[in-house]
Amino acid sequence: MGISMRIRARAFGVGLLLLALAADVLAAVQVKGVRLWRAPDNTRLVFDLSGPVQHNLFTLTAPHRIVIDVNGAQLATRLDQLALSNTPITGVRSAQRSPDELRVVIDLSAPVTPKSFSLAPNQQYGDRLVIDLFDQGADSAPALPASSAASKPTVPVTPTQTTAPRTATALPAGKRDIVIAIDAGHGGEDPGAIGPKGQHEKNLTLAIAKELQRQINREKGFRGELVRTGDYFIPLRKRTEIARKKGADLFVSIHADAAPNRSAFGASVFALSERGATSETARWLADNENRSDLIGGVGTVSLDDKDRVLAGVLLDLSMTASLASSLDVGQKVLSNMGRITPLHKRRVEQAGFMVLKSPDIPSILVETGFISNHNESQKLASASHQQALARAITTGIKQFFQQSPPPGTYIAWLRDQGRLSSAGPREHVVSSGESLALIAQRYDVSLAALRSANNLKSDSIRIGQVLQIPATTLAAQP
Ligand SMILES: [Zn+2]
Repeated sequence: MGISMRIRARAFGVGLLLLALAADVLAAVQVKGVRLWRAPDNTRLVFDLSGPVQHNLFTLTAPHRIVIDVNGAQLATRLDQLALSNTPITGVRSAQRSPDELRVVIDLSAPVTPKSFSLAPNQQYGDRLVIDLFDQGADSAPALPASSAASKPTVPVTPTQTTAPRTATALPAGKRDIVIAIDAGHGGEDPGAIGPKGQHEKNLTLAIAKELQRQINREKGFRGELVRTGDYFIPLRKRTEIARKKGADLFVSIHADAAPNRSAFGASVFALSERGATSETARWLADNENRSDLIGGVGTVSLDDKDRVLAGVLLDLSMTASLASSLDVGQKVLSNMGRITPLHKRRVEQAGFMVLKSPDIPSILVETGFISNHNESQKLASASHQQALARAITTGIKQFFQQSPPPGTYIAWLRDQGRLSSAGPREHVVSSGESLALIAQRYDVSLAALRSANNLKSDSIRIGQVLQIPATTLAAQP
């Protein structure tokens, strides 16, 4: 969103304020619509309002119900058209208890822990009342695959932290997978940037994230974990918390942004900057991405105030180490992306993205392109381009971890056994008379691996072309 939009939004805000004042005087606040989002461990109901309201929420049992009394409100929408499957909600009904008190009753099939809060208008929405219903009882966190049993020790984040299931099929200690947390930007009522044809960034990012997970899972010694698995909102800090719970070695946030200048195009990669952005674009994008919490609300986050001073000190120390890694992996991802798509900037940029503020996990944010650009938004929506982007990101991640594998991982073990042909990526400049097959043979890599490392669709190469030679995995491991 650009400057003109901001001015319009401000004018719109003033309009809403006047509208709200008028509504106060003339009539009750209208409940204009209700939206529902299901996340793995909670259900969110969002009531769209014509103005701010006071509300009161309480729980009833036998049968389980949530009752919300909304003062000064009238229902101006239907509540019976919500898609309730896969949620603990069996029905939502209402009663007008008096001209200015609306009661909404949520019928439940299981007890939930409710949280409710109001959200003020922003560029996308007006006043909202948000009801989050957290699942209770059985461990509601998504199940972890068996191999995560050997996950590295993680910093405890919440008392409800899950322990990975221990099974006989777990990899022996010292050969765990390197875990890549893949964060699809935005989601739920936060659509992210919106393209010229109404494409929502949240859908593109999820499609690319899923493809990236698929490709990472194909690499032995690596495992991709999705931070967001569907269309629901996750506050920014919660995203890094989920990554930490999954034992992430790297956090990759996927985005596709919009710019005020519709002709802006190209991909970029960001790492965290604590001291201000390296460019105006970086600053602008960081503002835009961080706005997400204003759109979706941070009502589900409980910031831990205790030990804040100590936490701050530790954070500074480990932040420095993970920032160096972030810049390194970011540059490798960027170089690989540069082979398949134009780059907006040739170097990793730094900006104060909230989602990158994990002290102990190297974190990068990938802007896959501008969906505000007509051509680029079409490309980003195509499966083949999504695959190419995922391939480039995967290659960059592999190059980084083959160079510096975390101790105790399968990749570190391979390196220690001398089975990684070289610590770093090698390059080969094609000369006259060489074929791709010949080069593959010379470096003792498979033709498929060579193709994939260079995002080649065919085997035709040209003289002077620079090829990345992937590290050799000499033998398949049991
Ligand atoms: Zn975004």
